[in-house]
Amino acid sequence: MSKISVDAARLPLLLNELRLPAIGRLWPDLAARADKEAWPATRFLSALAELELAERARRRIERHLLEARLPPGKTLDGFDFNAVPMLSKAHVLALASGDTWLSKGANLLLFGPPGSGKSHIATALGRTLVENGYRVLFTRTTDMVQRLQAERQSLQLAAAIARLDRFDLLVLDDISYVSKDQAETSVLFELIAARYERRSLLITANQPFGDWGKVFPDPAMTVAAIDRLVHHATIFEMNVESYRRRTAITRKPKPNQQPAETTA
Ligand code: ADP
Ligand code: MG
Repeated sequence: MSKISVDAARLPLLLNELRLPAIGRLWPDLAARADKEAWPATRFLSALAELELAERARRRIERHLLEARLPPGKTLDGFDFNAVPMLSKAHVLALASGDTWLSKGANLLLFGPPGSGKSHIATALGRTLVENGYRVLFTRTTDMVQRLQAERQSLQLAAAIARLDRFDLLVLDDISYVSKDQAETSVLFELIAARYERRSLLITANQPFGDWGKVFPDPAMTVAAIDRLVHHATIFEMNVESYRRRTAITRKPKPNQQPAETTA
């Protein structure tokens, strides 16, 4: 081994250059402790490496929480599952752990009247998933459509949709609030088709499929979009009154049906 010069005064500079801020901050205390307790060098070094890694993971999650744009203050702990008996807490907690559905690109559809807690559940799930290491983006569907329409105008739609692939889960809140003029382009369909069986969507709506005819340019595209969305989907109808409708909407719509009929 060649001679190594040791100059503790240069250490902050070296660690900065190596981009090891946690080690830079923590080494003096840890070194003092290691000296005092006569740690083997290996133990000291691996303790520092672990601290840097843990700090990186923490910063990554912090970054992902910021980029997720989740509405503040909505957590799973803060959700009263007793208020929505149709919603199985165990099922929601299983979804919050991520693994199987996100890796398959499966979807989650939340239906229920205004105030039934759809946005709360969507936000809380998103937050927990980010904390579990996944990447999430929460948007109102109208905002997403507007954004994709702008990309289409500058011929960047495919690239913009591809960039959204970095998110394991895209939350499209209130799909049925897409306005008629927004529906004239097919950007939302293109997004749904591009993510199909690859990347997950969480969609909320006041009504299951019934009024989705105004969300897409034509009935055939509406049916095609719904078909893709429900193919691998968990559907929660957050409506305590209508058990019959709840079972009806989990049926896969037939391709030749008008969308309005699929909810009848
Ligand atoms: P939706 O998106 O279905 O219209 P929200 O999720 O916005 O409804 O819920 C409306 C308000 O009520 C929010 O402040 C939300 O946090 C709260 N809320 C709804 N359902 C519950 C629940 N079961 N437990 C706790 N808070 C709830
Ligand atoms: Mg809402």
